[in-house]
Amino acid sequence: MAEEDEIEIRGIKRPLVENYSDDEEEEEARRKEEHSAYQSRHCPYLDTIDRHVLDFDFEKLCSVSLSHINVYACLVCGKYFQGRGRRSHAYTHSVQVDHHVFLNLRTLKFYCLPDNYEVIDSSLDDIKYVLNPTFTKDDISQLDKSAKLSRAFDGTTYLPGIVGLNNIKANDYLNVVLQALAFIPPIRDFFLREENYQNIKRPPGDIMFPLVNRFGELIRKIWNPRNFKAHVSPHEMLQAVVLCSKKRFQFTEQGDPVEFLSWFLNSLHTTLGGTKKATSSVIYKTFQGKMRVTARKLPQAENEEDVKKVLDEEEYKEKTSDSPYMYLMLDIPPSPLYKDEYQQNIIPQVCINKIAKACSVMKHASK
Ligand SMILES: [Zn+2]
Repeated sequence: MAEEDEIEIRGIKRPLVENYSDDEEEEEARRKEEHSAYQSRHCPYLDTIDRHVLDFDFEKLCSVSLSHINVYACLVCGKYFQGRGRRSHAYTHSVQVDHHVFLNLRTLKFYCLPDNYEVIDSSLDDIKYVLNPTFTKDDISQLDKSAKLSRAFDGTTYLPGIVGLNNIKANDYLNVVLQALAFIPPIRDFFLREENYQNIKRPPGDIMFPLVNRFGELIRKIWNPRNFKAHVSPHEMLQAVVLCSKKRFQFTEQGDPVEFLSWFLNSLHTTLGGTKKATSSVIYKTFQGKMRVTARKLPQAENEEDVKKVLDEEEYKEKTSDSPYMYLMLDIPPSPLYKDEYQQNIIPQVCINKIAKACSVMKHASK
């Protein structure tokens, strides 16, 4: 057929002789498109969404197939299901239990099933924000100035940043480190801006990648001013820790927080592309200090006179060197004992001023 006998409609070349039916097809397609655009903005099921049951902190896997691929959250019951095509788990769920609004947890797009059209409605933006909180530079600059309480969906109030992390089994030793790091302004501000780390280049097959992303996600959730609940579960962060540390740190059995801190800071540093240079990552920039170490080799001698004789020799002279550190260990001053709120159990406590004093002595010593 000669080219001038064809007409292209929606990318498909059709013969001109069937012009009449093309018009009809086109009209039908246009009507369908208009209808679905209308549906997108007028989904009748939006008031069936239950924000109380939505929790995006847990591992995003299909509750039926246990797959992580193409997972949707049912916004009516909160459960996760894979796929939205016919015979998929989300589709089947929508037909079986009459739940219709779903959110793709990766693309952040909403769909109505089984009709299968995308739902576009700005009233759903709060749900997207809970799944993936974002911060502008302006938002970040206000964090330390504002003491505005946020209200969670169940009515409890909280101060963004001052929220609890769940103890899933025995991960309080990890939580304490994660929570402390979330409060260090340069670290917090860096991780609140996803663009600072979402495109870091890692070698193919690298297993450390999730550590940085999950940590960033956790910090953004801890500081979320519009969360539905007044606490955050670090579940996905902990899974990244178990994976990246090759099970050295687990959340099912207790471990040492200092060992974790050391491993975590070093792992974040190298995953962010850090080198030996002090300015090569936000971790070194924030944590690295230098300690001047003065050492002297002691001679092995029978008597004091012999010792004095050799002390002037080069080998036994005082030598100083600078050694970098990421954190310093401090002795906690002797602890006074206080009664707890029930006036019975006795909790050892150390006044924060004493620790601060010890810190400043240490700082001087390290200069
Ligand atoms: Zn459901």
